[in-house]
Amino acid sequence: MTVSHILGYPRIGAQRELKKATEAYWQGDCSRQALEATGRELRLRHWRDQQAAGLDLVSVGDFAFYDQVLNVSVLLGAVPERFNAGREVAAGEVELDTAFRMARGRAPSGEPAPACAMTKYFDTNYHYLVPELHAGQRFTLASNRLFDEVDEALGAGFTPKVTLTGPLTWLWLGKSKGSEFDRLTLLDSLLDVYSEVLARLATQGVEWVQLDEPALVQDLPPAWHQAFERAYHRLQAAPLKLMVASYFGGLGDNLSLATRLPVAGLHIDAVRAPQQVDQVIDRLGPHQVLSVGIIDGRNIWRADLAALRERLRPLKVRLGKRLWLAPSCSLLHVPVDLDQESELDASLVGWLAFARQKLDEVVTLARLIDQRATVQDEQRLAAATQALDARRDSTRIHQPAVSRRVAAVTPCDSQRRCVYAERAVAQRRALALPLFPTTTIGSFPQTQDIRAARRAFKAGTLSQADYDAQMRAEIAYAVERQASLGLDVLVHGEAERNDMVEYFGEQLDGFAFTRFGWVQSYGSRCVKPPIIFGDVTRPAAMTVRWSEYAQTLTDKPMKGMLTGPVTILQWSFVRDDQPRETTCRQIALALRDEVADLERAGIRIIQIDEPALREGLPLRQSEWQEYLNWAVECFRLSAAGVDNTTQIHTHMCYSAFNDIIGAIAALDADVITIETSRSDMALLDVFQDFAYPNDIGPGVYDIHTPNIPDVKSMVALMEKALDKLPAERLWVNPDCGLKTRGWAEVEPALANMVEAARQLRARY
Ligand code: GLN
Ligand code: ZN
Repeated sequence: MTVSHILGYPRIGAQRELKKATEAYWQGDCSRQALEATGRELRLRHWRDQQAAGLDLVSVGDFAFYDQVLNVSVLLGAVPERFNAGREVAAGEVELDTAFRMARGRAPSGEPAPACAMTKYFDTNYHYLVPELHAGQRFTLASNRLFDEVDEALGAGFTPKVTLTGPLTWLWLGKSKGSEFDRLTLLDSLLDVYSEVLARLATQGVEWVQLDEPALVQDLPPAWHQAFERAYHRLQAAPLKLMVASYFGGLGDNLSLATRLPVAGLHIDAVRAPQQVDQVIDRLGPHQVLSVGIIDGRNIWRADLAALRERLRPLKVRLGKRLWLAPSCSLLHVPVDLDQESELDASLVGWLAFARQKLDEVVTLARLIDQRATVQDEQRLAAATQALDARRDSTRIHQPAVSRRVAAVTPCDSQRRCVYAERAVAQRRALALPLFPTTTIGSFPQTQDIRAARRAFKAGTLSQADYDAQMRAEIAYAVERQASLGLDVLVHGEAERNDMVEYFGEQLDGFAFTRFGWVQSYGSRCVKPPIIFGDVTRPAAMTVRWSEYAQTLTDKPMKGMLTGPVTILQWSFVRDDQPRETTCRQIALALRDEVADLERAGIRIIQIDEPALREGLPLRQSEWQEYLNWAVECFRLSAAGVDNTTQIHTHMCYSAFNDIIGAIAALDADVITIETSRSDMALLDVFQDFAYPNDIGPGVYDIHTPNIPDVKSMVALMEKALDKLPAERLWVNPDCGLKTRGWAEVEPALANMVEAARQLRARY
């Protein structure tokens, strides 16, 4: 019999119950007991779903009130000193509130302290809390939560498989706090605790433990190879079976390392790296189990069960009962349940599968290849085939004009008419901006009134005319404020936008939106990514009327504001029936038309935001260049249709630029604005070293805090920038958009920023 299992399940709840409970707890509106009860309820419900679907094992250890990597840090007692200050941690047990303080800096109890850093988990949009490591650190078993959850599952009659971030990946994700040191020196102490954890799980009656080691799909230094071997040779002494789980890509040059590890089972990603399956089987030990991740855990498309059955047949012949089936990775990265989407049209629903549907897919596939399919399995197989045939031929997806246009793109289309140096002269003449021009990144405060208007409009209680009137009033207000503050390049303020991707997706053909398709981003925060299901076209101009109106209110240049093609792609679920780059080109062409329309409407400066450019980088460096080539081309395709006098801006935030500076320069935007204030302008070094040729607006105002930056601090930051870059190419602007701030903070801050620019002009 083929064992079916999953690597993890979304814990947020189909109705985001966990989000609501944790936020209520933080606000003091829900007791600790009530929060724990919600957690228990959700775990139980999710285990029941897994069992009801027919999985052989249920996943335990994937639940977390905030983050599963943080859970492991807590389990290991890796709690930075500042969170323990003045508190007795009862009998070695780290309290829930301590974990919340690590995550958020504060909790209903305990002293506030600066939160741990948070960053994206591999190439996902899920953020984990970065383990803080220091030389000589000792670990101790410091939480019973995992063991309690195992008892909970056993007590309710489930057969659990425990999942836990593996020791090497946990270290890999950690960062040294203070002076740099070799993280691997901590391995021995770490393994002591992992061994203790495994021994305890064994006494509880756990048979299988899955240790997640996605670090195995990245480029590992030789020392880490040795550490993997050493670690698993030690852990093999545990009196239970270990499965090492790799996902998000192929094992590549770590393949023989992974297959040599002395563990009972290995999980591999057969969706992103189908070619590795045979190679892994060739090297697998005679008793080792291979869990094949065959259902896409990163996307929402319904699986082609018939095709997968054919693919799996020869594997079944080779592996017999050593073949296990699973989704490629934890289902944490997809929404919970498609059955809730009553408003999506039926054909689209037929093409999709969310977490709960993916459980059925895994189980049905296992029974199909075992030749023990039920009537229901046969029905599912037929329904999948039928839906996918319909999808392949659907005229809703395939628009011949779009593919013709993409095919007709030439290198000329992504070239501006002349080089930056000449454009800069033409633009200087056309725009007549002062030295150190001041501008903002696009959004102004999204006030309660604005949100209420959008909600009422969506609900149908506010008419189009009234909504438009209110948005125009908001725009007029933002323009008037900017004009009186003395900014040089104005923006309309983005009052009409809910989200920088959703806003465009809603106006483009080929995009669909779910009602409950939430995916955890960090802690209690969820995102609802659009689904790009078909060829992308732009039925009508998307932003022109707002920008055009805003321009009528001022003689200063009004900056048009667009989200770039790579960012739209990156923050959506993307179709799997054509390469990502093709979808990206389609979006780029739609944006190119928008750029042309803005220019025609008299907009002389157009900003195309690409904050997600860097996060699209593949996990393997060998694949970076290929990605960057098409990503850069797509940006240029969207931007390059304009005259020399039209100035193209781009904006990027939350990223380091050192490894992609060449690509950033290749974007050939006339101006780039970036987040730099918190790095004290250190992020500019790479622009200096690279001799970055175009204009730069290094952020001088950290918009993430309510603090109002003073003139002196902003002048000082610009002085630092001036050490690295010439005055003629510098702009003065905040780090990012201002939508999360209030006007009471924004106005004095911008007044100071404008004053800082004035003082600089007097000096240069
Ligand atoms: N133009 C957007 C804004 O100001 C940019 C947001 C972003 O960079 N994430 O809100
Ligand atoms: Zn930004």
